[in-house]
Amino acid sequence: MPDCLFCAIAAGTIPAAEVLATDGVLAFRDISPQAPTHVLVIPREHYPDVAALAAGDAALLHEIITQAHQAAVAEGISDSGYRVVFNTGRDGGQEVAHVHAHVLGGRSLRWPPG
Ligand code: 5GP
Ligand code: ZN
Repeated sequence: MPDCLFCAIAAGTIPAAEVLATDGVLAFRDISPQAPTHVLVIPREHYPDVAALAAGDAALLHEIITQAHQAAVAEGISDSGYRVVFNTGRDGGQEVAHVHAHVLGGRSLRWPPG
């Protein structure tokens, strides 16, 4: 998809701090982390959001979730726990229209805290 930031990262034309890579999926560190660990997991193929991915390739969505967990293992937060988020659409706060799972952890994300 021309002019898609995450397609460019998947193609290697824009650099990113890679956490893991498979044939179908790439995980890399968020440039503006919202937690001590903040990794983005994307399919190499362009889908605009998680609903389009679920409708278009359920196996690839499964791979995103599987690799989100593997990224948590690689980052050492699988035991302490983590959050997986798909921001979707304007009110969901989605800024990049290439589906991505946020993997957040390394501190308590409980709300309210406690
Ligand atoms: P969204 O708001 O679409 O759910 O999340 C997009 C995420 O992409 C944001 O957390 C933002 O910090 C991250 N991001 C934006 N541009 C870049 C970039 O060039 N490189 C990396 N690694 N992350 C980016
Ligand atoms: Zn894209």
